[in-house]
Amino acid sequence: MIRCRSTILVAVFLACVPVAPGQPVVLEWAERLVRNVQSTSFPELAKKDIRIDQFTSDSDYFQARFSIPRFILGRRMRYVIRVNSGATLLPAPEDARQAIVAHELAHLAYYAKGNRLHLLALLRFPAKGFRERFEKRADVEALRRGYAQGLKEYRVWLYEHVPPGTLPEKRRDYLSPAEIDALERSTRR
Ligand SMILES: [Zn+2]
Repeated sequence: MIRCRSTILVAVFLACVPVAPGQPVVLEWAERLVRNVQSTSFPELAKKDIRIDQFTSDSDYFQARFSIPRFILGRRMRYVIRVNSGATLLPAPEDARQAIVAHELAHLAYYAKGNRLHLLALLRFPAKGFRERFEKRADVEALRRGYAQGLKEYRVWLYEHVPPGTLPEKRRDYLSPAEIDALERSTRR
């Protein structure tokens, strides 16, 4: 029961960390990258209010969020792609960065697709395996939009750049290069 409750809390955290108030310091390269992938591959997000923000972490590099206060107050939804502000990401291959941005935009497309009740349902997920399903669904969406090669490159890069303690969780929750290849083969049949 305790495990169940704590996992639900993680789910709530994943979906809904409030967007920090105030003007974010925009990373120029990230802004360009997100707008580029958005206009190329996510036409349904063209009119959405999507901001770029930054955060620091030694194990996470991108996050997708929506604004809880706006959600609760019934105002126009605002979405945020948060980008790790460290220098580690800069030498990552461009294809890889495009693909992980496609993964994050897939989360936003999922948030934006439903009404507010649909988003509220995010808070009620059955606990076990939620994160894995949530992340792999965004991966599959990125593959569907043509980012398979880049996503493989990103995972190879990621496995080399996260602390060893978080590697098992990254391998479990996201598609590995071998799983991406298998999915690509099965869709080509
Ligand atoms: Zn994700």
